Amino acid sequence: MTSISANLQAVNARIAAAARLAGRDPASVRLLAVSKTKPAEDVRAAAAAGQHAFGENYVQEGADKVAALRDLAVEWHFIGPLQSNKTRLVAGSFDWVHGIDRLKIAERLSAQRDAHLPPLQVCIQVNVSGEDSKSGVQPAELAPLALAVAALPRLCLRGLMCIPEPSEDAGLLRRRFGLLRELKDELMGRGLVLDTLSMGMSDDLELAIAEGATIVRVGTAIFGERARP
Ligand SMILES: *Cc1c(COP(=O)(O)O)cnc(C)c1O
Repeated sequence: MTSISANLQAVNARIAAAARLAGRDPASVRLLAVSKTKPAEDVRAAAAAGQHAFGENYVQEGADKVAALRDLAVEWHFIGPLQSNKTRLVAGSFDWVHGIDRLKIAERLSAQRDAHLPPLQVCIQVNVSGEDSKSGVQPAELAPLALAVAALPRLCLRGLMCIPEPSEDAGLLRRRFGLLRELKDELMGRGLVLDTLSMGMSDDLELAIAEGATIVRVGTAIFGERARP
């Protein structure tokens, strides 16, 4: 067994244990394998071990990997920061985008989504950490953005995503994840149909699952340490 497949087994076991502890069906949590900075062969090894969804942070690197691995029946998620001059490549290469935090980016992705592809599945990134984080829409500005994104023709708004500030404080991280869940519930109360909470990484996926994560984004625990952050 390669280390990637052993790591995947261990991460899937962590997910299942955390789900059971929270009284949830382990199948309600999907694993997104974050392959940023890792070579295409690592993605191949993970796919051979049964992993279906992969996350990339850098537009050109991600699009190159998608192109090099066209023969694999896997799903590609863009999870990094996205500038408006890079939206076309993302709209043409990826199945999901997790980090929407401005209407302008969403409008460009919708306009540029190839007609022959299914709608791009998107999550809005929320700043759940207040002053301590710069990316993501502020909770107070979420509802108008979500309603506008949901109305775009070539996007399908699936839910919310967050990256809390780094912290050793499990209670604080749980409150951050819990806030994202409450914000999703509020939006559903306004009539939006959402099924996704994208939250939790290698170090804190158990806390995120306890608060309702449906997608955990895990890199290091599967592929090992990265050379650049
Ligand atoms: C890199 C990254 C991850 C994975 O982080 P690990 O700590 O390596 O599991 C998850 N989400 C986002 C947005 C990332 O940039």
